[in-house]
Amino acid sequence: KDFRTNNRPTWCPGCGDYAVLSSLQKACADLGLAPEEVVLVSGIGCSGKIAQHFGSYGFHSLHGRALPTATGVKLANQDLTVIAAGGDGDGYGIGMGHFVHAVRRNIDLTYIVMDNHIYGLTTGQLSPTSERGFKSKTSPKGSAEEPVKAVETAIVNGASFVAQAFSGDVKQMTRLFEEAIRHRGFALVNCFSPCVTFNKVNTYDWFKEKLVNVDEREDYDPTDREGALRLLHETGGVVTGVLYKQERPVFHEEMIGASEVATVKVDLQLKEEDTQALLQSYR
Ligand code: SF4
Repeated sequence: KDFRTNNRPTWCPGCGDYAVLSSLQKACADLGLAPEEVVLVSGIGCSGKIAQHFGSYGFHSLHGRALPTATGVKLANQDLTVIAAGGDGDGYGIGMGHFVHAVRRNIDLTYIVMDNHIYGLTTGQLSPTSERGFKSKTSPKGSAEEPVKAVETAIVNGASFVAQAFSGDVKQMTRLFEEAIRHRGFALVNCFSPCVTFNKVNTYDWFKEKLVNVDEREDYDPTDREGALRLLHETGGVVTGVLYKQERPVFHEEMIGASEVATVKVDLQLKEEDTQALLQSYR
């Protein structure tokens, strides 16, 4: 039940993605999951490397395509715990179409977005969640665009679990991952995961100063959809905790029927010569 590996991440020292990786490893271990019961599908970007460092089955997929890949995995074998992960550029830029449709279908998986408000791997360009006025290589005079409201988009399109976490609070992040994985249906955890190398505005200190934690508010009701949207508007979205949740049927049960769920299990006990022949066919 150990999700650690011997691979050393190549993230910059201090990158928020380290906290996401260790929180997810701890959450899966605390839930008593076995590595062979979990599949982590990632997109492209610094955050996409997480699948290489997480000790379960993994699939480092195409740019913006973590969600359709993860959807396919879940529909093929509903016994698996499926987690998709990527960055704000990957998920809310090129992957935005997939995001909205996975949300409205209520695919039973957890989607972790490492949101640093910038493209890190390509050395610092404007991303879909960069703030208006943000200066970068591609916006030297400041961004003229409104940031995408991804979390609000998830809520209004019928998401059944929406939370936000911060890499500066590993304890809360771990608890939110556990709750998201236990949730039946599409669970989004948008993680504020600072890029210490290229984003000198949205730093750990910037988040610590501004963040509101709704988990500490006894009067907050996460089943109140209008209340969640109001809170996001009032805080400018800089808020952590479980923002919204509801119970509704999951996609594979709606489509197939709960009693007739077809699980596809493929026997992958390939012989060495079969493997070599398969590899040869791609050369
Ligand atoms: Fe993390 Fe930014 Fe470095 Fe990428 S460039 S590893 S996002 S700190």
